[in-house]
Order: sequence, then structure tokens, then C-alpha cells
Amino acid sequence: SVDRLPEIQDSRLRLPVLAEEQVIMEAVRENSFVVLCGETGSGKTTQVPQFLYEAGYASGTGIIGVTEPRRVAAVSMSHRVAKEMNLSTRVVSYQIRYEGNVTSDTKIKFMTDGVLLKEIQKDFLLQRYSVIIIDEAHERSVYTDILIGLLSRIVPLRNKKGLPMKLIVMSATLRVEDFTENRKLFPTPPPVIKVEARQFPVSVHFNKRTPLEDYTGEVFHKTCKIHRMLPPGGILVFLTGQAEVHSVCRRLRRAFPFRRGNTATGMFKKKYIFLYTSLPRIDLDNYSALPVDEGDEDRLAGIDDEGSDLELGDDTADTEEKADPSLPLYVLPLYSLLAPEQQAKVFRPPPHGARLCVVATNVAETSLTIPGIKYVVDCGRVKKRFYDRVTGISSFKVSWTSQASANQRAGRSGRTEPGHCYRLYSSAVFGDFSLFSEAEITRRPVEDLVLQMKDLNIDKVVNFPFPTTPSAEALVAAEQLLVSLGALEEPSPLQILYLTIPSSRLSCPISPLGRAMASFPVSPRYAKMLALGKQQDCLPYVIAVVAAMTVREIFEDLDRPAGSEDESSKLAQRRARLAQMRRLWAGQGASLLLGDLMVLLGAVGACEFAGCTLKFCEENGLRYKAMLEIRRLRGQLTNAVNSVCPEVGVFVDCKMAPPTESQVVCLRQIVLAGLGDHLARRVQQEELLDPKWRNGYKTPLLDEPVYIHPSSALFKTLPQFVVYQEILETTKMYMRGVSAVEPE
Ligand code: ADP
Ligand code: MG
Repeated sequence: SVDRLPEIQDSRLRLPVLAEEQVIMEAVRENSFVVLCGETGSGKTTQVPQFLYEAGYASGTGIIGVTEPRRVAAVSMSHRVAKEMNLSTRVVSYQIRYEGNVTSDTKIKFMTDGVLLKEIQKDFLLQRYSVIIIDEAHERSVYTDILIGLLSRIVPLRNKKGLPMKLIVMSATLRVEDFTENRKLFPTPPPVIKVEARQFPVSVHFNKRTPLEDYTGEVFHKTCKIHRMLPPGGILVFLTGQAEVHSVCRRLRRAFPFRRGNTATGMFKKKYIFLYTSLPRIDLDNYSALPVDEGDEDRLAGIDDEGSDLELGDDTADTEEKADPSLPLYVLPLYSLLAPEQQAKVFRPPPHGARLCVVATNVAETSLTIPGIKYVVDCGRVKKRFYDRVTGISSFKVSWTSQASANQRAGRSGRTEPGHCYRLYSSAVFGDFSLFSEAEITRRPVEDLVLQMKDLNIDKVVNFPFPTTPSAEALVAAEQLLVSLGALEEPSPLQILYLTIPSSRLSCPISPLGRAMASFPVSPRYAKMLALGKQQDCLPYVIAVVAAMTVREIFEDLDRPAGSEDESSKLAQRRARLAQMRRLWAGQGASLLLGDLMVLLGAVGACEFAGCTLKFCEENGLRYKAMLEIRRLRGQLTNAVNSVCPEVGVFVDCKMAPPTESQVVCLRQIVLAGLGDHLARRVQQEELLDPKWRNGYKTPLLDEPVYIHPSSALFKTLPQFVVYQEILETTKMYMRGVSAVEPE
């Protein structure tokens, strides 16, 4: 049994989920699948694992597994539950991709959904677990969806084997029909248990106008205004990324300096000016939230390029807010990569006399509940992955959030008393938001998923019980690409000849190469390059190139408009310097043919040689954050390669010599093997339908030619055949990441 501290016991009793303990545990006893819905903060994540523990689900050989789409939640929830149960982290533990504290004593294990998917690859029946909780299912992350599909099959298999297992799906919203009404997934609909949470009314205030440029400035000013004019109560600010969070934190701290011990002289003595415009209570029962933008993959979570502090106008805009130490504000950042001890601060009461202000990314939307919030400031935006239709390469972009998501954010202010949400956009703009965010699986290419599933020996991916099925075209395209990469076996000629089923139902089994590729944390094209990298000691180069190609835009944008003449001439100097460095990095002789990829390799090599410093990057036109990202990814990929083939013993060499001539030849073959479907041939004389087509290239995908960009290392060479990483349309259709195929 569990020996909780009295104050923990008190706060547990106030959680709505406690009142439903009997109902929940009875449903779990009688059903293999149970869906549990409850408003954020009702106690699902922290309490349900404890109910299961106390009911004996971890007393035999099996343990309790909980999956989270975000690493932050896996780590912080495991600590919280350990503390509430008065147990050591040896017993209540966590595992995220490269880090964890699981021991042989672990009884409750929090993990990211990607970790559980990898475990299924090792033991399909998940025999270590007696129950799996899929948490935050409303986020509809791809891995969550696939896990639910897999578990819908695993659980009955376990029951048949006499090793019964339970699945509990937990969601912050009631929008669960994709799980419950999907007969392919669950032939008998699982019971849905609703936890009624107390939610106080929230008044929603829209801006009259919608700032399109400097929304962080607007966020800052609104927060200042709330703090100066409105009664006590915590403020929660939603921004899109780490850089924005830090910039706004800094500005707020400067405007309302807080020192431990300074008493709040002016605090709450001013006449309040209420900004109420009574709006109807928003419906908090009928929404779902966004797909995740801070998933399991470390490298994805770290990407945060939008807006350096410089671009956010950090210093200029502050003049109008004079520092006012009489109104202390206790400002805390909150985002995925923040150190856990920093994250934990948001759960503690603020120092006496100071108002709490948490500046967060959308990790505070549903994953973490911060106590004492009365005001929400919502920038209305979210940073999301967008996928390039041509190449499938993803990038992070800031875009409007969904109505459902904005309502979730607003709801954070009504947990303990009536709240206010300030939306920094107009009601007309809100009306244009999509109602819900689509399941992530419908928004992106699926070759990586198809490969992961084939690696689980699921050959007919079309028949897989997805909660939301990706389009047939997306599945066929994925399968074709994987066959062409050699990750799947070719369909036999007989199969093709006597094809009686549509080609979309064709299902090719995975090849040994595909198995190796499936173990690398990059998309299949790049995984193929890594799998081939063993030849001629090329691996360290392949790893560096793949890392650089997977991180977007390693060069600084020096073509931006300059604010002054002085800046303009500085920019021109830096442009010249970067052009010179690019020529240097492109190498000479044979290296030149590797083209832009050689430039990447040279840049990574030079930057590491110099210790990957901010100074080196600034002087040479490299984006510092991108270079740090590449450094981390190189480490990760090196570990992954070593665990697949330990005999290669590859390591990250920060003093990597440039590749030899024969290595360059080999590297070009490896690149061609990965990007073979991105082949382009120079437009021939007889094909010149338009003089503008001179120097253009033909691709199988497009009627119009594409071009080599003037900044490319191959702009002057114009080889007969090239492969490219992606096509980007700006003033023309330009290929990026070009390397030559045929020696001239
Ligand atoms: P749900 O999963 O339903 O959103 P949780 O179980 O995450 O709810 O949260 C229940 C309560 O526990 C919330 O009021 C939250 O503030 C509190 N809580 C969660 N983590 C911590 C923590 N690390 N420290 C203090 N309180 C916490
Ligand atoms: Mg939760």
C-alpha cells in the first residue's frame, strides 16, 4: 500500500478524478479497453497510474506503462507521481529516447510514445506490461495513433495467451469518436468514462486589430497592462517557441524587477481598471487540441529558429515601459527543453507579494496544469511542422492555431476561479481559424511510418487499424519510394502480371536493408545513405552530411533588407565573406562535383574545428543554432550507427580531415542512392522551347524546367545530371542541395 504525506493526500482529494476512482477501476476490471476523458488538470495523468498501482496492477510480473507525446510530460509526471506516492524514482521512473532512470524495481514507467513503439519492435506482446495508458490521446500525434492501432491487436492476443493486459486511452477532450466509433479498431466500442471537472467561467477578450508583425511586442504590452491594472491572479502567456519565450521573459523582468525580499508597495493598491466585455462562457466540452510540435525526437524539439532575440526588437521597444520595482512580477519560462528543476518552479507558489507570470509554449496547453492562473494571454499562433510535398522534408513554421486549441488555452484561466483570456487577434481572425487541428498523420508523408510498420512485420499497411487512415495515395507513394530505396522487396513479376488487386493493395515485405534503415532516426532517404556509408571509411562524412541536410538553412540570411546605410555595408561585407567561404568549403578538383553537399561538409568540418563557437558562426555567415543542432544530430546518428553495426566503431571527430578523392566518388554514389528519385537532366538544345529554359534542368515530376541557384557551388559548372535535395519556388523553381552525378 501507499504511504502518502498528509498535504499530498489533501490536494489529491480536491481532484475531480478521485471521485471517479471506483467507476474507473471497475470499468478497467471488466473491459480490456477503456477511454477516459477529463478536462486538463482533473488529475488523469497523476492519479490513474496510482489507482492502478493500488489495485495491484504492478504487483505481479507486469508493470504499469504510461505514454506521453511530449518528453517534458514524461519526465515531470514521473517525478510528480513518485513524490505523491512517496516512492523512489527507482520505482516510478521514466524513459525518453536517450535518457531515463528505469531500474529492475520500476513499477510505473512514464515514457514517450516513440519509446513504446520501439519496445513493440522488440517484443510484440509487450509482456513486461500489465496495463498501458496512452495519455494525451487528443493530441493525435502519429505515434499515439499507431500505438492505439497496434494495441487494439496486442491486447486480444495477450488475453488469448492467458496473460491479460489492459489499455486505457486518456484524452483531455470529448472528441474521441475516432477511437470509439471505429469498428476496425475496436469491434465493440470501449466504454467512455467522463470526469466532470469544475470549470469557472472564462471571459474572452479579443483584440480589435491583429498584429501581424510584432506579436511578441503586443504580448509584452498586454501582459504589462494586466499586471498594472488587474486584481491578483497568475498570468499565463502562450507563445510559439523558446526564443520568443526568453525574449518576453527578459523584457518583463526588466519592466517589473523582482528581488527576493522587496515588498510589493504599489502592488494591488492602484485603482483597478476592469477591461470586462462580458462574452458568453465558452464551450469547453467540445474541442480537441493540436498535434504536437515538440515530439519525442530531440532534434525536432530543439529546433527553434524563428526569430532570434535580435529580430524580436528586444531592446528598442522597452523604452516606453519604465522599470517599476514597486510591482514585482515573478516571471518564469516554460518550454520543452527547459531543465526539469526549472520547469518544476511553475508548480510552486510565487514569493509573497509577487504575481506569478509563466511565459510558455503550447506545452502548457494540455500537458501541464499550472496552479493559480487567472489571466491567459494568447498570441493565437503555434509552431508546427510543415512538410514539403515534393521532398517530404519538414520545417517548422509559425501559423494560426485552431479554435479548439485557442479554447483550451483560454480554459487554463478558469481552473480555480473565474478567469480572463486576452486574445491578441480579432474575433474575425478567430472565425477563420480551423475548428480542430487535423490528426498529424493526415498532414505528412508516411514513408517513415510505413517503414517502421513493415519493420514490425505489418505487411499490408492499408489494412492497419489507424484511428484516422492516411490517404491511399500517400501510402502507395510511400511504398513505391521504399521499394526504390531497396527497403522493401520488389513485387515479383508474377505478382505484377496477374495483378488482380489494385496496386494500392500491393504489399511488399521489408528487406534486410530496410531493417537497418528502420533503426536510424531520420527519414528513409537519409537512412539509406547511412546504411551505405560503411564503404571506404565514408561513414563520418555521410553522418555529417546527413546531419547538415536534415537541419534546415545552415547559412544566415544576409539578403535581408538593411535598416541603415551602415548596416547595408556591413551586410555586403558579410555576404562577400560568406561567398568566399562557400568557395573554400566547396573544395577543388573532385570535391567540386559533390557540389552543395561538399559545401555543407566543409562548413560543418570548419565550424567543428573552430569549436563550434558563436564567434566563428557570426564571422562566417553560419547560423549558430543550426550548427549546434547539427552537432547534436551528429552525436545521435553516430550512436545509432554504432548500435546497428558495432564493428564499424565510428566516432565524432571534431578534427575531421576533408574526404579523399576516392571518398568523394564514393560519397557521390551514396548520395545518388538516397536521392535517386530526385534526378534532373540538363535541358538539351533541341528541347529549348523558350530561351529562358537555357541552363534549366528537366525532372520527371515537372513539365517546366528547374534551375541551379546562383549561390550553388554548381551554378557555373552546370553538370549534365544532378541530384537535388528539394525544389523550392522563389523567383524561379530552384533546386537546393545539388550534387553532380556524372563526371564531366
Ligand atoms: P490531467 O492529466 O487531468 O491534466 P494532472 O494529473 O496532470 O491532470 O494534474 C492534476 C493536478 O496536479 C493539477 O492541479 C496540477 O497542478 C497538479 N500537479 C501536476 N504536476 C505537479 C507538480 N509537479 N507539482 C505540483 N502540482 C502538480
Ligand atoms: Mg494529463
